[in-house]
Amino acid sequence: MIAIIGAGLAGLSAAYHLKGKEFRLFEKEARPGGLARTEKQDGLLFDRAGHLLHFRDAKVKGWVQELLGDNWLAHERRATIFSQGVETPYPFQAHTYGLPKETVRDCVQGFLEACLQAERHLPAPDDLAGWFLHTFGEGFARHFFFPFNYKLWRRDLREMTADWVSWSVPRPSLSEVIAGAIGLQTSPMGYNSTFLYPRRDGIESLPRALAAAVGPIETNRELVEVHPKEKMLVFEDGEKVRYRKVIATLPLPELIRRIQGAPAEIQAAAQGLKQVSVLCIHLGVAGPPISKQHWIYFPEPGFPFYRCGFYSNYYPAPAGRHSLVLELSLRPEELLRRGPEIQESCLAAFRETGFLQSAHRVLHLSALALPYAYVIYDRHRKKHLPRLLAWLRGLEIYPAGRYARWEYGTMEDALSQGREAAAEVRG
Ligand SMILES: Cc1cc2nc3c(=O)[nH]c(=O)nc-3n(C[C@H](O)[C@H](O)[C@H](O)COP(=O)(O)OP(=O)(O)OC[C@H]3O[C@@H](n4cnc5c(N)ncnc54)[C@H](O)[C@@H]3O)c2cc1C
Repeated sequence: MIAIIGAGLAGLSAAYHLKGKEFRLFEKEARPGGLARTEKQDGLLFDRAGHLLHFRDAKVKGWVQELLGDNWLAHERRATIFSQGVETPYPFQAHTYGLPKETVRDCVQGFLEACLQAERHLPAPDDLAGWFLHTFGEGFARHFFFPFNYKLWRRDLREMTADWVSWSVPRPSLSEVIAGAIGLQTSPMGYNSTFLYPRRDGIESLPRALAAAVGPIETNRELVEVHPKEKMLVFEDGEKVRYRKVIATLPLPELIRRIQGAPAEIQAAAQGLKQVSVLCIHLGVAGPPISKQHWIYFPEPGFPFYRCGFYSNYYPAPAGRHSLVLELSLRPEELLRRGPEIQESCLAAFRETGFLQSAHRVLHLSALALPYAYVIYDRHRKKHLPRLLAWLRGLEIYPAGRYARWEYGTMEDALSQGREAAAEVRG
């Protein structure tokens, strides 16, 4: 029997691709979906922060469209940055027009200097702060990348490595930077310029469609121990289950902590992996439209959240009602220490931005914690991750998904990795 641990998108995809094989799918929560779940409150839908389907692989896109049937719509990104009291289109580095003139000058001049440096073919530094300076120059780093990324990662950017940024942070050409500085249109940039999203019922429609296709899922089943020598799993309810191979999608440090007899250096390497947590402050609001954007970034330290997502701008919410999320990044220990006042302070800060006005009535305010949100790319991860993944494979435990592989992966990646893990265990 093949045991799949976790019924998020990676585990569900693995199960889908194991059709015909003997497997069991265990999920600790009461329903499948993992991070791709949706709550309904006061007639409004709230995902776990913005969950939009961006694709790089046409095959995965086709499969998702098939799973969703008619329940999807294609959207063109509407995203901005709110900084120095001005809203500019995303990405910041291609749209400085409208910002104070000194800021525009700093950004263009710094970028030009970075371009001149690039002609000397110096290698990019491997730390994140150095990479931003090398790639975008001092002005963009100071006015956007440093404050925004500090807010998101909650640590000195020199402690982080830059091996995740090349695909997710678009680098415009010099002529695009100049065009963006004088207010000319530039073409959409980045992996997320278009996306699909379900017409109804939120992002959970996708795991629901997959769950319907894979057969029984054993929910409320938390894995607590793995005994690799005996090839046995132990669940919280005490049940012991024999397996042949495991596809594991739970966070890597959680998985390794559960493996009985794991060498001390493996445990230490796994427990040294770090992540930030995200607190989603969910707002339901009645009143006039708040913004037409799908999301807005807030790089400045005066606002506790780094992004606001407007769920109701990509699904039909009841007339005159809006659902929003303010996303706040916290170290895991900060997440545990947070008090209930954090919701009110975020709401007050959001009012200060001017988006929420006296004509708006707050119908719903709640906080939803994601203890594992963004994994930290640092030297520890770079040094130890390949060894940890190889060690697990040696035990016939196959990690799949964003937290089991400990990477900055998308829903598309989770689906692909589930399929790849199924192929590997079949092989
Ligand atoms: C703030 C934020 C915004 C994001 N926005 C986007 C976006 O716009 N677009 C996009 O494509 N991706 C986005 N992502 C990434 C996306 O959510 C993930 O890539 C994807 O959902 C990961 O799926 P997964 O199956 O790997 O992990 P998960 O969804 O975490 O699933 C793992 C499952 O394992 C279960 N589990 C854990 N421990 C145990 C245990 N001991 N026993 C049994 N079960 C267990 C969990 O309950 C969970 O259901 C975002 C992520 C975050 C944090």
